[in-house]
Amino acid sequence: RPPGTTCLEVSNISKRFGGLVAVSDVSLTVCHGQIVALLGPNGAGKSTLFNLISGIERPDTGKVSLQGHDLSNTPIFKRATKAGRSFQTPRLVPEMTVLQNVAMRLDNLSGSQHEAEINNTAYRQLIKYGLEKYANEPVHKVSIGSHKLIDVARASIGSPPLLLLDEPAVGLTEDEVSHLATMLNKLRSTGAAILLVEHNFEFVKSVADSVVVLDGGNVIAAGSVEDVMRSSKVQEAYFGA
Ligand code: ADP
Ligand code: MG
Repeated sequence: RPPGTTCLEVSNISKRFGGLVAVSDVSLTVCHGQIVALLGPNGAGKSTLFNLISGIERPDTGKVSLQGHDLSNTPIFKRATKAGRSFQTPRLVPEMTVLQNVAMRLDNLSGSQHEAEINNTAYRQLIKYGLEKYANEPVHKVSIGSHKLIDVARASIGSPPLLLLDEPAVGLTEDEVSHLATMLNKLRSTGAAILLVEHNFEFVKSVADSVVVLDGGNVIAAGSVEDVMRSSKVQEAYFGA
């Protein structure tokens, strides 16, 4: 995974729900070793774009390529080996332990590995995210903020080339946010390509190499955080200015 080479390429993708165009002719690329933040007000189409990339939704037009391969005919479970995803509302199994929830992704990816090996790898992953103290706690007993971190730990286990993180910093304490930023920087340095939805500008500024802003399903600005924040379209979308 040479840094700077294209990992994710979204080309002219569109998706409508009935009369509503949720994503309209969107193109973007994320390179290995790059963190791109996807911004935009509620309903802008951010989660739908993630669904199109991960294969939960099929696009009406356009395509998604990963490491040069067109994913149009690649089913969700196969895309998942290449693209780890965390959700706006984490989809964890509340009565299973934190360790089991993180191990689950590896278990799904690698049918051949032994359980002990999987649990070992999952435990090491928990240590990286400062979550090992919760390893044997059922998920419903740990704080909601931790659910977000657990979901990111799960998404990134097995080092997928692409990470799609939907609002990973929401609900985290300040310490947890800075720990998350450190983790994302580490993942970037190993060549991961990261696309994340985030509203916390301080966090975006601290991790993102570039930003894409969606509004009404359209890309209204793209570039550095500073450039994008100066865009009059962005000011209008966010502040009605
Ligand atoms: P964001 O994540 O930026 O808040 P979404 O991608 O969730 O926005 O939604 C974009 C638009 O598409 C919204 O108007 C939303 O109501 C609509 N939408 C999303 N998913 C569906 C769906 N499955 N069926 C109908 N409308 C949907
Ligand atoms: Mg959303």
